[in-house]
Amino acid sequence: MKLIIIGGVAGGASAAARARRLDEHATITIYDRGAYISFANCGLPYHLGDIIKNRDELILMSPSGFEQKTQVTIKTRHEVSAIDPHKKTVTVRDLASGNEFSDTYDKLILSPGSSPLIPPVPGAKNPKVLCLWTIPDMDQIKSIIDSGINSAVVIGGGFIGVEVAENLAYKGIEVTLVEMLPNILPQLDAEMAAPLHEEMRHHRVKLYLGNGVSEINEQGAKFIVSLQDGTALHTDLVIMAVGVRPNVELAKSANLAIGESGGIQVNSTLQTSNPDIYAVGDAIEVNHLAIGRPARIALAGPAAKQGRIAANNIYGANQAYRGSLGTSICKVFNKSAASTGANETTLQQAGISYLKCYLHPASHASYYPGAEMMHIKVLFNHQERILGAQIVGGQGVDKRIDVIATSIRNGLTITQLEELELCYAPPYGSAKDPINFIGFVANNLLKGHTEIVTPEAIPAEAFVLDVREDFEVARGMIPGAQHIPLGQLRNRLDTLPKDTLIVVYCKVGIRGFNAERILKGNGFSAKNLSGGYLSWQMFQSSRVHRTQPFHEGETNVH
Ligand code: FAD
Repeated sequence: MKLIIIGGVAGGASAAARARRLDEHATITIYDRGAYISFANCGLPYHLGDIIKNRDELILMSPSGFEQKTQVTIKTRHEVSAIDPHKKTVTVRDLASGNEFSDTYDKLILSPGSSPLIPPVPGAKNPKVLCLWTIPDMDQIKSIIDSGINSAVVIGGGFIGVEVAENLAYKGIEVTLVEMLPNILPQLDAEMAAPLHEEMRHHRVKLYLGNGVSEINEQGAKFIVSLQDGTALHTDLVIMAVGVRPNVELAKSANLAIGESGGIQVNSTLQTSNPDIYAVGDAIEVNHLAIGRPARIALAGPAAKQGRIAANNIYGANQAYRGSLGTSICKVFNKSAASTGANETTLQQAGISYLKCYLHPASHASYYPGAEMMHIKVLFNHQERILGAQIVGGQGVDKRIDVIATSIRNGLTITQLEELELCYAPPYGSAKDPINFIGFVANNLLKGHTEIVTPEAIPAEAFVLDVREDFEVARGMIPGAQHIPLGQLRNRLDTLPKDTLIVVYCKVGIRGFNAERILKGNGFSAKNLSGGYLSWQMFQSSRVHRTQPFHEGETNVH
């Protein structure tokens, strides 16, 4: 067997290592146009902030180390410029010498990844406008940071932009993040990103949301980043992080089929339209498991697993890659933002109808020190299928999103979450885990024990009733709401209208549910505000159109 792999990082390195384990005698070659293989792209932002102090820790294996361990030939700084599927050859250019040669394969695996997207605005292609993509990119940005700059503008609020902004802020740099959409982290719906905006503001990152970049100009040692609303940001460093595009040019020129999402089309065994060529990673189109549509999902986990599966299948396994959910997590200073499956935007674009609910449980038993509130949003349908979830909070966010991701993949219904037996001791969780609570809420909803309304859908004609305690109400309430603490509700029913829908709310939705049951039991028409006042606040916060930064004129904390 002569196996050639194009790209030697997440998918490619995984495929090579697996192929070697399956076949001691195969001739395996990795060609990578970069200087490194098998490096930790995901760790790059954290070296900028000196969280990972030693850059070499990000190079998981040197080319020579990989060669020695696996007997795979590694050709870094070698770009594959063409594939001839009929002759089963690749054309390779040695980027150091400029020499070109051809190599033959029995099987070929493409793992060429994606490249940073450069928006079509004047100045964006200036080579001094930097992207964080590779080890050399990181080294360059790090040396600029260490030269003692004061300010940076990060363009793009996806996970790379957010991680870079956070790490630059850790270095005491005054950071401005510009995002064209109304919220950062587009895998989240706007209201779920609202607490993250607060968190970034708290750490003195200035946010311009809903405001794109129109031009970037170099002025001496500085840059002026002009925004669509006319704002001009003067800065020492510009980092571009507006998204990724799949590297499909090679596949296209070899006449391999490209899918409707723009990724290389593969079948369930990760075979391209040519049976001797497999493809994995950022460059391929996968089945989005939540919506059953083709999608591109650029994440390390899927790439690494696909690399392994492609190698298995080359050796006859016939193993299916069923698809991806896009399960991801991002650290935003002291908060974590995780999601799996589809968000509302994706479902609406796909024309899929859904129900949703909000919960705000504690990460562990609230009497044990250190419990942190998490905000959970779950999307599901009337057939009880979980379509997606988003969780923002501190501790325990990762565990809960992973349980939901596992449940979706294995077809558990939302009401079955009620039954899951999850580990519990006070420092870690609650006897009724937040995951169980999602099941309780969904069960109540689907069985008709509760009717909920979400903050953006409170009918204008509804009578809005706040059942929190006086001290809670003193800190703010929904405008126009009436207040009756839950404990007094049964005695004051005669003050409430029988001919109008009553939307009742508390802080997070639990007392609101009790109030709804009391009202319904006494002949009123009532609905509970899902996630209570906290959900309402998140919606309010997400509706403030932030074209101006938070904390104008403030300096960064170190
Ligand atoms: P890559 O790992 O990008 O490897 C592709 C390789 O192919 C590159 O080295 C490239 O040089 C080479 N190549 C391309 N074309 C050719 C050619 N013609 N000839 C030779 N070589 C070629 N994902 C997560 O899940 N979690 C994270 O926290 C996370 N953080 C990230 C942070 C950063 C800064 C970056 C850049 C990415 C991050 N990702 C994260 C995404 C993740 O790294 C990618 O999804 C994953 O690496 C994709 O694997 P891949 O094998 O498809 O491509």
